[in-house]
Amino acid sequence: MFQMTRCLRCGLPASNEGNHYDKNGICRACVSAEQKMHIDWNERYDKLLEIVSEYKELALQVGSSYDCMVPISGGKDSFFQLHVLTKVLKLKVLAVTFSHNWYSEIGLYNLWNALESFDVDHIQFTPNRTSISEAAHFSLAAIGDACWHCHSGVGAFPLHVAVKFGIPLLIWGESAAEASGRGTHFEPLTKFDRDYFIKISSKISVCDASKDASQYRLFKMLEPPTAEECEAAGIVGLHLGDYIFWDEEKQTDFIKREYGWKEDHVEGAIKGYKSVECIMPGMHDYTMYLKRGFGRASIQAAADVRQGVMTLSDAVSIAQPIDSTEPEAMGYFSEITGYSHDDIYTVMEKQRVGEWKDFRKITAHEQQDRKSEARRPFVIKFIERIKREL
Ligand SMILES: [Zn+2]
Repeated sequence: MFQMTRCLRCGLPASNEGNHYDKNGICRACVSAEQKMHIDWNERYDKLLEIVSEYKELALQVGSSYDCMVPISGGKDSFFQLHVLTKVLKLKVLAVTFSHNWYSEIGLYNLWNALESFDVDHIQFTPNRTSISEAAHFSLAAIGDACWHCHSGVGAFPLHVAVKFGIPLLIWGESAAEASGRGTHFEPLTKFDRDYFIKISSKISVCDASKDASQYRLFKMLEPPTAEECEAAGIVGLHLGDYIFWDEEKQTDFIKREYGWKEDHVEGAIKGYKSVECIMPGMHDYTMYLKRGFGRASIQAAADVRQGVMTLSDAVSIAQPIDSTEPEAMGYFSEITGYSHDDIYTVMEKQRVGEWKDFRKITAHEQQDRKSEARRPFVIKFIERIKREL
């Protein structure tokens, strides 16, 4: 039977993006988790206090209404960030949301609850439905997942707002060292300019994504400001997770208890707290499975192994059937992109990477009782319901 090469400690497969094993066969996420235990977090926190007081002072000098800007989705990380920034550090925060326009009902509740609980000003950009559907079609073949417009916009839009309103300090949540292996705890990332976001997340710039000028115009808001604009505005960024010991389980418990933040069932996942704001994570993570041979359930199970709350063999046997089950969201994805069920498999066949490329043709575990209707953006369902009722 085909067996993937895995991290000897947590079981994360070698086809993971940016994968790197040390000489003992241990992945970067495991190495980072170990580093985390040897860091003087009090010293890091003092450093954070220093940075924020510097930007508070700057905001006073230039008469800015805001000390910093926080990109938020309403997800657990951004919710917790707002707690730390407004309640603990007493910062004046401008919250900024790039809406993927695939919000779930619980997702909107969490977002609006954040704005009310933390009493912050908020700016949101929502791309039109047609552009999103076009981008989703393009996204599958170009980067092998459904979500290019979101990967792009989440990086680009906050930078536009920061440049436009002269708010140089951007604060993100989880450290890049945490699960992705993109950085380490000893070399925190500090630069969040256009190149960072294109390289890390969207992979393909708007220019390259657009087949003609009209499409370029549609996607233009997803393009980050130029390097010169970012430089001139003095944009700097930080991840709170580089200054505060990050424990997502504890943080999630805390915001649920204190503020009524809510989880939900997330397709393709073991946990109900990640990407709960969107209807599409099931499709995103299933394409990851088609491309790399594992999905979000494996990532979450590996994290539990790292924490010592799950055994390696349980992690693999629990995660594999979840990763390989077709999501309900595939129905809505087909509807908006025009890809048939078979088209999706044909496109994804070309996206397979590493040793997974040589594995036999994929046979999906189709869900018996598909409720694709349930996986539509809440805003569409909400409008339809009110229309019917009035
Ligand atoms: Zn590992």
